[in-house]
Amino acid sequence: MRNVIYLGMGSNVGDRAENIIFALSVLQSGGFVDVKKISSFYETYPIGPKQRKFYNIAVKATASLNPQKLLSLIKQTESLMGRKKTLRWGPRIIDIDILFFNNIVIAEKNLTVPHKEIQNRLFVLAPLNEISGNFICPLSNKKISRILSEKLLTLRCQKVKILG
Ligand code: ADP
Ligand code: MG
Repeated sequence: MRNVIYLGMGSNVGDRAENIIFALSVLQSGGFVDVKKISSFYETYPIGPKQRKFYNIAVKATASLNPQKLLSLIKQTESLMGRKKTLRWGPRIIDIDILFFNNIVIAEKNLTVPHKEIQNRLFVLAPLNEISGNFICPLSNKKISRILSEKLLTLRCQKVKILG
């Protein structure tokens, strides 16, 4: 069972780059996840309460785990690194999200794939576009590069009225 997965990772506590790199090694340590591509690191503005900027990356990997087992591995990795349950959108030493899992759509109580905020978050779309701009989102059937450019357009140009 060799699945192609995309992960989004972020940190805004301590040595942010070091935390992300350490989390990647923990994820791979059991031999079930094999990282294939890593984006650049992006320094990004936080959402939610006032706090330090994040470092974010996107990762392409293969995984010989089902989606729920992958989520367990992610949660184990986060708690091993000392992530506490804090404020919603509050500071975190590490956050790991499953962005895509093959082309499948999952709507379970504890797991939504594709991740439900992808199209709203530049800190996900920019690194994802760097490593896999041609990947087609199974929900919208659009390429990542197109979702990113549509998002960029909304920042500066909003339709207010259709003339005629
Ligand atoms: P967020 O990443 O939204 O800031 P958390 O990391 O605290 O918040 O995740 C909250 C919960 O989101 C997790 O316990 C997990 O069960 C759930 N979740 C739902 N879909 C996903 C996904 N695609 N990737 C990771 N977690 C997910
Ligand atoms: Mg998360």
